[in-house]
Amino acid sequence: MDIINSYFELADGNRMPREGFGVYKITDQTILNQSIQAAYQTGYRLFDTAQMYGNEAMLGNALKDLDVNRDELFITTKVSEANQGYDQTVKSVQQSLKDLQLEYVDLLLVHWPIHQHFFETWRAFEDLKKMGLTKSIGTSNYGMGHLQLLATKAREMPTVNQLERHPWFNQSAMIKFDQDNHIITQAWAPLGRGRMMSNPSLVSIAESHEKSVAQVILRWQLQSDIAFIPKSSHTERIQENASIFDFELTSDEIKQIDSLNQNTRISQEPELVYELGHQYPHN
Ligand code: NAD
Repeated sequence: MDIINSYFELADGNRMPREGFGVYKITDQTILNQSIQAAYQTGYRLFDTAQMYGNEAMLGNALKDLDVNRDELFITTKVSEANQGYDQTVKSVQQSLKDLQLEYVDLLLVHWPIHQHFFETWRAFEDLKKMGLTKSIGTSNYGMGHLQLLATKAREMPTVNQLERHPWFNQSAMIKFDQDNHIITQAWAPLGRGRMMSNPSLVSIAESHEKSVAQVILRWQLQSDIAFIPKSSHTERIQENASIFDFELTSDEIKQIDSLNQNTRISQEPELVYELGHQYPHN
């Protein structure tokens, strides 16, 4: 098994690579072009952006530069809080596609749940799928309550729920809930933004496998049966992060990594974003 051949089948019948490439904070065209080239050559096929990242047009240029068949790529974008609501969602996705220079995305996500436009945004998502502007629809940062609420009116449920997930915030209950509801969990900040690279337990496991801590964390994500989208703009790390299919963590090592959970988020609390209708200043 390797990165190119490792897929999940989604509930709607489409396929999604298990490991993808995140482009948050890469906002320089040259660096983005180099990163996308290196990632594609390494075997990444899923590229994850968002309206909020301000780099959809740059990603569009970088993908055009790759000059590969559209069906070789799996492109995700996300509708920002400011663009939620039926008409605004449709309009903003049309603009995203223009910027990305694509006729469709493979996966469209609601970036954060907000109460103001909760059902209308999703109705637009269902229609955008019917219109062929996205192959699959999903959510991001939705908790159990948000998904249960959505189910009261949705004609079609999300196929993917993209969540913050790393050894300090392992989301085991949420992953189980997604699994029980045929939703693939996709981890964002799967490396915890690089903050746990000197953790002694992780270092010791990495040494025993002659792998890096980043590879151990990503292998833990893989063995947790979820999808994940690490980000790096360095070719060596891009390759390193994909070289995780040639070793296996023991169940004891998995337990050890699970036990590092501190239930601490790097980013926003979804319930507050839902309440406020937008993201809020945080560390
Ligand atoms: P990440 O966990 O992928 O961490 C990236 C950082 O880890 C890099 O900037 C670098 O500092 C470090 N790193 C990467 N590879 C390394 C290696 N091999 N060795 C040592 N350090 C390494 O964090 P992220 O970028 O926040 O998350 C990944 C992607 O998830 C984003 O790019 C974005 O596409 C997506 N995302 C989604 C949401 C959401 O709300 N849905 C939020 C944040 C990010």
